[in-house]
Amino acid sequence: MAERYDAIVIGAGMGGASCAALLAKRGLRVLVLDKNSIPGGKAMTLAKRGFGYELWPIVGGPSLGSQFERVLAELGVPGEVEILAPKQKNLLVYRRADGSVGRVVGSARPEDANPLLLAELLGLGEAEVAEAARLMMDIVSMPAAEVDALDDVSLADVIARYRVPQSVVSYWGMWVNIVFVVGLDRVAASEAILTFQDFMRNGAGRYHGGGFGKMAEAFCRSVERSGGSVRLRARVERIRIEDGAVRGVDTDAGAFDAPIVVSNAGIQPTVLRLAGEENFGKPYVERVRSLVPSEAIIGFRYFMDRPVIEHGMAISFSDASHLHAARLAEIEAGRLPDEPLLFCVVPSAYDPGLASEGGQCALVGTICTPDPDFAHAEALLERLDSHFRRLWPEAEKAVQRVERYTSADVSSLTRDRAVVRQGGECIGLAQSVGQCGRHKPDARAPVHGLYFVGCDAGGRGCGTHQAVDSGVNVAKLVLEDRAAG
Ligand SMILES: Cc1cc2nc3c(=O)[nH]c(=O)nc-3n(C[C@H](O)[C@H](O)[C@H](O)COP(=O)(O)OP(=O)(O)OC[C@H]3O[C@@H](n4cnc5c(N)ncnc54)[C@H](O)[C@@H]3O)c2cc1C
Repeated sequence: MAERYDAIVIGAGMGGASCAALLAKRGLRVLVLDKNSIPGGKAMTLAKRGFGYELWPIVGGPSLGSQFERVLAELGVPGEVEILAPKQKNLLVYRRADGSVGRVVGSARPEDANPLLLAELLGLGEAEVAEAARLMMDIVSMPAAEVDALDDVSLADVIARYRVPQSVVSYWGMWVNIVFVVGLDRVAASEAILTFQDFMRNGAGRYHGGGFGKMAEAFCRSVERSGGSVRLRARVERIRIEDGAVRGVDTDAGAFDAPIVVSNAGIQPTVLRLAGEENFGKPYVERVRSLVPSEAIIGFRYFMDRPVIEHGMAISFSDASHLHAARLAEIEAGRLPDEPLLFCVVPSAYDPGLASEGGQCALVGTICTPDPDFAHAEALLERLDSHFRRLWPEAEKAVQRVERYTSADVSSLTRDRAVVRQGGECIGLAQSVGQCGRHKPDARAPVHGLYFVGCDAGGRGCGTHQAVDSGVNVAKLVLEDRAAG
């Protein structure tokens, strides 16, 4: 007979692991199943050859008062993972339209924000500074009801109401690319403004002691402490549904029964592959099929024998590199920017214990399509590598080993491909117009006992933070439904 649980959570990503820990803490007998050998999904931390690191650049926002802190507190283990609010400096490099390059070094703490340095970086004249400041102030002070009303408007549309120069548009475009991994013309203004307001209040640039993914590991330990089980290297092959209700799952490690299944495997893979579309109405299946995921980040892990980069986070952008719909189409057609947008995170700048032998690991990426079969990935990576070596020429001698990753690697580590141009996305379902706010899919699937958790439903905010926000909200939904019978 199959082992029986109160709830099965498929996936120990930030969303699945946080939801499972909260359900277990509330007394449910929970089983977590993940196909990987380490919890954390897209934000897992590895330890190899004297380095602790994520597979790609991962740093969180907000810095203070995050859902991660709240979940640890609710689990009764507030200090189990140290929250590292940013003390280190970040670097912003902008190539202006005239070819000159500006650099600004600052901290991610809100109290250290220096608008004058940003104005200088973006080459703004006096009138332009005033208009850029008006835009910024309107965004920062927008009341919640007005923010919520902007689900159907892109942030590009909001910015177009102001007479700001291209450099300001590029700055916001770069910011949206890094935080939401979509273009300025795609991100819903509601979601972007809500997140930006949070960053302005609480800072951005949080990391976790021992590595970002240690948080998911702590959530899984909490499941076990509360009497649940966590099985790694266990791939769910099928969600069993009978008479419109969930009965359990079949995995490559056996079958398990439960009346509740919470899936962190992505709404498209869950509905179209794991549960099977025959269990849903045709309009629902069509809606799920039509959802468009976020774009991807592809790049390199550079392992160096000495510290080369002084900053925790570094971003380099230009008017020609931030991504929007037209530029994405160009990239997909093989017309690549000479100097791609570059995002770099150095884990040991946050936690020095992550580079034990005096070396440094730099995680570098650029934005592109989530299609695991993207034909120009190698050419784009070559340009990214050249740009990295131009920005930090000392890396030439220091680099001992380079590992590359593409959308195909992201997909095989996290979610299966269920529709065309999907699989390697960074965030999951993108926070784009028509797909978030009141248009976001319901975390309750139209099958009794089936829920989605993670970046496809139930949460708001930046990447990993959205996943945990979903974990909190979906745990609440499950408990409410269970109490209601
Ligand atoms: C390159 C890159 C850079 C990023 N940078 C940042 C950043 O700087 N800051 C930030 O906040 N966010 C960043 N993100 C996004 C962030 O990592 C994700 O938004 C977040 O981690 C997603 O969490 P999740 O819970 O939704 O799902 P995931 O992390 O996708 O976890 C899903 C889990 O489900 C498991 N799973 C899937 N299918 C099955 C199955 N059939 N059986 C068993 N297990 C299964 C997977 O193994 C995985 O562990 C980045 C993502 C990428 C890819």
